[in-house]
Amino acid sequence: MSYLTAPSLSLFSRDSFPLLSYVGPSQAAYRRRGSRFTVRADLEYYSVLGVSKNASKSEIKSAYRKLARSYHPDVNKEPGAEQKFKEISNAYEVLSDDEKRSLYDRYGEAGLKGAGMGMGDFSNPFDLFESLFESMGGMGGMGGMGGRASRNRAVDGQDEYYNLVLTFKEAVFGVEKEIEITRLESCGTCNGSGNDLLFVWWDRRNIYPCNACSGDGRVRRTKRISLKVPAGVDSGSRLRVRSEGNAGKRGGSPGDLFVIIEVIPDPVLKRDDTNILYTCKVSYIDAILGTTIKVPTVDGMVDLKIPSGTQPNTTLVMSKKGVPVLTKAT
Ligand SMILES: [Zn+2]
Repeated sequence: MSYLTAPSLSLFSRDSFPLLSYVGPSQAAYRRRGSRFTVRADLEYYSVLGVSKNASKSEIKSAYRKLARSYHPDVNKEPGAEQKFKEISNAYEVLSDDEKRSLYDRYGEAGLKGAGMGMGDFSNPFDLFESLFESMGGMGGMGGMGGRASRNRAVDGQDEYYNLVLTFKEAVFGVEKEIEITRLESCGTCNGSGNDLLFVWWDRRNIYPCNACSGDGRVRRTKRISLKVPAGVDSGSRLRVRSEGNAGKRGGSPGDLFVIIEVIPDPVLKRDDTNILYTCKVSYIDAILGTTIKVPTVDGMVDLKIPSGTQPNTTLVMSKKGVPVLTKAT
């Protein structure tokens, strides 16, 4: 996704607004995100788990369990926690497997790649987390953290849509709007887990659904968002505001907000893509002899010279009085 970069639109690239990109009226708004589980290649697995190179299998396992619990995105809402959780998971996956660990010890990441395990070949960290805790005697009481009751993995949030009505001039020149959207946000009462009691690990009977969100982990809220609508949008244009859609579940990414533009037609000026059309009548004599008339434009009234000998149905062009060309995101 590229952002608006045309010089004529530089006015709209100031920092204080949400990342906004123009998608165009008919482009797919539902494109999938890329793989969610890739990590940086330069991580040192032993230090990620905080263990020595001679650590035993049980030391590695217990280091993983401890870290994975505290960085699981269901309980840890710090920025970067999910990334850290994935790194921990990948490190554990390699170091808990004799063959992979020995390759990694000898050749580093290159050794794993040589064995056909490159970037993106790691297991889903949520599956790994779940399988480990299940193999330890069942973790039915884990609820939102992958227990049997809601053992589904992370679910990305849905995109949200908002219809924004603009006047003819607002669409031509661009405008700053404050809009109020309603969408699902992570529940503050249960931290998005859906459970009333999060830290009861070993007693499954004491987990109840959160009252505030009825166990969904999300609640519907309204939020005001400042939006810079770029110059040149038209009816059907879509603006994407990243990550302002509905919250995901169990650590899933939020959806995007799509603002769909509707432009109120102007009584005299007609829009034809980036051109603006105005129809006027001049008398027969004026057309033969030539004259100057006043023409309404989006910049106000402007003099237009009608050359002598102008024929009926002639189109005269006034340059630079149309609509800015909008750069579409790809
Ligand atoms: Zn809740």
